[in-house]
Amino acid sequence: MRLLIAMMMHETNTFSPVPTDLQRFALGLGQLPPRGQEAVIAFRNTGTATGAFIDLAQAAGADFEIAIAAHAAPSGLVQDGAYQEMTEAIVQAVARGGFDGILLDLHGAMVTESHEDGEGELMRRIRSVDPHTPVGIAYDMHANVYADMVELAQVVAGYQTYPHVDMYETGQRAGKALLALVAGQVQPTTAWARLPMIPHIMRQSSLDEPNCSLQARARQMEQQGALAASVFTGFPHADIENAGLSVVVVTDNDAALAEKYRDELLQMAWASRSEWVYPVEPLSQSVARAKVLTMQPVVLLDHYDNAASGGTMDTTAVLAEVLKQGLKQVAFFAIYDPQAVQEAIAAGIGQRVGLSVGGKMAMPQMPHRHEPVMLEGTVKLISSGKYVAKGPMSQGARQDMGAAVVIDTGDVEVALISRHVEPFDVNALISLGIDPMQKKFIVLKSRVHWRAGMGHLAQAVVECAGVGACTSDYSELNFKNLRRPIYPLDADTQRG
Ligand SMILES: [Zn+2]
Repeated sequence: MRLLIAMMMHETNTFSPVPTDLQRFALGLGQLPPRGQEAVIAFRNTGTATGAFIDLAQAAGADFEIAIAAHAAPSGLVQDGAYQEMTEAIVQAVARGGFDGILLDLHGAMVTESHEDGEGELMRRIRSVDPHTPVGIAYDMHANVYADMVELAQVVAGYQTYPHVDMYETGQRAGKALLALVAGQVQPTTAWARLPMIPHIMRQSSLDEPNCSLQARARQMEQQGALAASVFTGFPHADIENAGLSVVVVTDNDAALAEKYRDELLQMAWASRSEWVYPVEPLSQSVARAKVLTMQPVVLLDHYDNAASGGTMDTTAVLAEVLKQGLKQVAFFAIYDPQAVQEAIAAGIGQRVGLSVGGKMAMPQMPHRHEPVMLEGTVKLISSGKYVAKGPMSQGARQDMGAAVVIDTGDVEVALISRHVEPFDVNALISLGIDPMQKKFIVLKSRVHWRAGMGHLAQAVVECAGVGACTSDYSELNFKNLRRPIYPLDADTQRG
């Protein structure tokens, strides 16, 4: 047996000004995304779907090839040139032929300059050169599903956890079903549908209701015979027609069961729609509420500007409020500002600096003022910014925040970084000499993923409404292409 494996992952925030070029997909490993053996080395023994595909291929004694392993942190529209390079790598490998199956590790919310469904267009290109070789796909829970993303593949499986600690298991679910198909043991059939709702990201964690029960029921369906049952909560920061929640169920040659399971999951999601709406608290109130808490560490979430949803990581509203209200023993991760990082490096360790940080990336689609903050302090640490994730999310995968420094103001240690990374892993802090247990407050530019690596450390959590392209206030987003009516933008939306 011979398998083709490929990864092409991006969650596109169409409101984000952060450019998405090919180098952004290089995982910090060089100028271009790795291919072939280089990709195998980068992803074998990692807690990713691609890691699972490699393990499955080896366990089956199959030959395999990785066409490309491209993964970029969320950001704005994928540039057409970058998309062309990545899809060509995959489509040319498919066209060469000789594969019994194709395993794709995709996100499901890629929007390019020319296509609302980057993954659907990939499938159309694959099918234009090869109509028949079975395709199995692992998607992120935040996929915004279009017909071709599902209907041109044979097996689709989505993450069932958020934070995403089951990427590997999702690869296993998609891969095992595809290998069973190649072996002639199963005949997958799929039922899927969308709902007219866009759940808030801040209400999507599978550690909380309503998503906890929904994902548990999907897992149970797999124990009761479905090959894969996936509830895609969707990614709302995409002004595209199909953003929002959808359900995909794959069964073994039982269309009626697939439809029954699909309808049950859709009904559960629709019945709970009001619970997916996030109420916003004013920033000054949140920080004041955190300040008087007596336990430690308290985690403050600067969740309007998280990298894992396409934030610039250079908005300073929450940092400025923390400095203004005089919180002490604070670690702040992080402000993206390559220029300030270089100024601090030039000054040197132990030197006093006054830096104007953040507020440098224009956000033309966002309504708020967005300014730098003046940071006076000592250069405490200079780092390459490279670290390995401790896990459980992306365990063992290399991470790269670019050249990084820590500026110590006396009360606040602020990490300044040169590449966008979501602090989902404790090593983001540890690698910068910050022990979160020794801090009273930890401010993270994150929404839900931080809970994977640091949730167990937090004694209290305060969500802070700052400024950014990942705002949890839908009234700040100017949707033009999204289908309407849709809940909660249109409160009286009918399911249809
Ligand atoms: Zn996701």
